Amino acid sequence: MSKLRLVVAALVAATAALLAPTAPASAAAAPRVLYYDTSRAAEFVAAVHQGAANWNSSVTSVRLEPVTAGRRADITVSAGNGWPYASVRSLGRGSIVMGRQAVTIGHHPPRIAAHEFGHILGLPDLRTGLCTDLMSGSSAPASCRNAFPTSTEAARVQANFATSRQIPAAVYAESAPR
Ligand SMILES: [Zn+2]
Repeated sequence: MSKLRLVVAALVAATAALLAPTAPASAAAAPRVLYYDTSRAAEFVAAVHQGAANWNSSVTSVRLEPVTAGRRADITVSAGNGWPYASVRSLGRGSIVMGRQAVTIGHHPPRIAAHEFGHILGLPDLRTGLCTDLMSGSSAPASCRNAFPTSTEAARVQANFATSRQIPAAVYAESAPR
């Protein structure tokens, strides 16, 4: 190979390196941001923020943020006297009721909030009775304090938003174990 060809080859390689994106090709897209409104969550505001924070530390394809003035909320959270429930309109949109009846018998409000957010994020109930499962909900003992999704639950939510999965509208009502 001539000296000139070697120089040209080196220049081509250097240029290719310069043009290569600095971020890895697999870098995640920006998360979908969902705004939630706690203005009617009464005594549960802190618990709702905690539930949102737990999801935010578990997934990157979606982020739950408190709604700001002038912006329309994707998720409204209110307090009620019955059992908690989530009414899901579509993936990432719906309403949550923090039910005092569950709290009265000992269920942990941050776990309730994280569980109901789980429904809005596209997860169904899975009544395994296990405290380690977030979506086991009230089938786990009322003494359960775990308010984080398992890696499997987090992976499902991560995929739901990475692929903008379509989910049917549904109401998920919690209740005492049957
Ligand atoms: Zn549920």
